[in-house]
Amino acid sequence: MTTAIEQTLETYGIENWGAGYIGVNRKGNLIVRPSENDTRTADLKEIIDDLRKRGFTTPVLLRFPQLVAAQVRKLQRAFRNSIREFEYEGAHMCVYPMKVNQQRSVVEEYLREGSRYDFGLEAGSKAELYAALAMEQSPESLLVLNGFKDKEFIQLAFIGAQSGKRVVIVIEKMSELDHILDLAETHEGNLPMVGMRVKLYSKGSGRWEKSGGEAAKFGLTTTEILEVIRRLQEADRMDMLRLLHFHIGSQLTDIKRIKNAMKEAARVYAKVKQMKAPIDYLDVGGGMAVDYDGSKTAFDSSANYTAQEFANDVTYTIKQVCDDENVPHPTIIQESGRFLAAYHAILITNVVDEIETVVQDITPIELKEDDPNTVVELSDLRETIGPKNYREYYHDALEHRDELFTMFNLGLISLEDRAKGEVLFWDVCERADKYAQQAKYVAEEFDDLRRLLCAKYLTNFSVFRSVPDHWALDQLFPILPVHGLNKTPTEYATLCDITCDSDGIVDKFVDLHDVKQVLELHPLHKGEPYYLAFMLVGAYQEVMGNNHNLFGAPNEAHIHIDDDGYLIKKVIRGTSIGEAAERARYERSMLHDGFRRQVAVRVKRGDLTEAEGAEIIEFYESRFSAYTYLAVDGAESRSKRGRE
Ligand SMILES: *Cc1c(COP(=O)(O)O)cnc(C)c1O
Repeated sequence: MTTAIEQTLETYGIENWGAGYIGVNRKGNLIVRPSENDTRTADLKEIIDDLRKRGFTTPVLLRFPQLVAAQVRKLQRAFRNSIREFEYEGAHMCVYPMKVNQQRSVVEEYLREGSRYDFGLEAGSKAELYAALAMEQSPESLLVLNGFKDKEFIQLAFIGAQSGKRVVIVIEKMSELDHILDLAETHEGNLPMVGMRVKLYSKGSGRWEKSGGEAAKFGLTTTEILEVIRRLQEADRMDMLRLLHFHIGSQLTDIKRIKNAMKEAARVYAKVKQMKAPIDYLDVGGGMAVDYDGSKTAFDSSANYTAQEFANDVTYTIKQVCDDENVPHPTIIQESGRFLAAYHAILITNVVDEIETVVQDITPIELKEDDPNTVVELSDLRETIGPKNYREYYHDALEHRDELFTMFNLGLISLEDRAKGEVLFWDVCERADKYAQQAKYVAEEFDDLRRLLCAKYLTNFSVFRSVPDHWALDQLFPILPVHGLNKTPTEYATLCDITCDSDGIVDKFVDLHDVKQVLELHPLHKGEPYYLAFMLVGAYQEVMGNNHNLFGAPNEAHIHIDDDGYLIKKVIRGTSIGEAAERARYERSMLHDGFRRQVAVRVKRGDLTEAEGAEIIEFYESRFSAYTYLAVDGAESRSKRGRE
């Protein structure tokens, strides 16, 4: 017998995408484990209740730094196994690409664990480098610099090397080499190393396919590579050339493409090495995918390989090519970001209400003698629809609805008639939907209908701030309730955010075999909070999130999990209303003066008393430090359909 909890585990696919970190406890609450299948757990509902008591309401971003460390270990272990198994003679090191999530707490936790394996950092801009230079790295670890660089960027790289870091400047275009050679003449002591980013013919797969291939934005062509080598030789600086780099895209879903790219890159490495270049690092870039939907396929939000398979293929392919070309095995440098950061952050927020998108029956319909024919017809359809005729009747209803609007536009029927017709029409649809779901075969038009008819849960967050990739790239994130997982969900819903943008919706959900158009959720009960978790949002989302509608960064809490459960280590208040306004250059003093001036005019005119004026000013000014999100905790109404 399967229990309700086992059933919800399956409904939401928790064990498919949870990577051993996520589960459900006996209370039916969502839990996080600090490492794979750990017995220590943190109850997310308890954390949210605790934070609420301290005055931190949802949305809240929960950070579990231990999951960054756990992913670091998983990756390191995979490569250690492969290196041992294939008798690979080089080492493996990571450099964490800061652009994935630059938050200091993420980078610090990564370095704390990663330094044990000489994992370093990767910076792609002057600001990232500026931050990276102050971080403590292990002596052998690298600081790799990608991206387009001007002289100032390269100067910063040189002082980084002088300060003792093992800096590698990866040349993306020829002018960077000129600056490097110039600066090398005037700098003493420890110089940075030089790498070359190669443009591979091989492409990745998935959404970031454009990052690779001949037309890619980044990388040197074959003739440029030969030119860099020639110029380094000419300047007697060949000793600086230590690394070869490529990166064919993020979220690489297909292991075959990765192997092909690896073959090509290893061959380039071998050929350059044979030209007496002292290269000993082969940087294979990032791109290790996260299986967001848990389907283990080459689908955009998944990956058809495990970390171990990835490590095996990379290590084995490089070894084979190097042995064939008779060159030593290079140290493998990996720039995985998404894989390390995605799991550690979870956004939790509350459903505020259910909103109506289709016309609902507010007062019971009463037919009258003089009702227009269309209304009468719709009413007949509603009374006689059944399992045998529902499809035909649904089509008839669509026709009558068109007729209804035509007549309304011609001025032939009243607003009351129109409302009556609409209610009847949607009633027929609901009944048709019910029969369709009972049928053996469901026609596609009824899938679309289901999406129209399902509940729309108004959820206290901004898609643009917290899951921008869902909006921009149709990327899927697992979404599920934080509590009540011991009860079977009986509603179907899509989510609407609180921005006033019609793109601010989530209507695609993870599924093992397909993409779900509606999510199974529980009915709302008035006054009771219903919390949802957006999982795996630790990579890219925070950085790419924007200020649409001036919704700011959510509240944030850092959680440590130990034998006694969770420990809230740090709480950071989200952006306040005033701070959000200031981002758009409305300074506090300007706003407060502006409001006071307007009130003063009203008081002078006698429209407001002094006391009333003072009161509204006080309220206005107190909003400066309030939260930008809705201050609603319990649901504002109960579910309309209440399929319980
Ligand atoms: C973005 C980027 C990465 C990180 O890719 P992930 O898919 O997050 O692993 C690594 N290297 C370079 C050069 C990048 O631009």
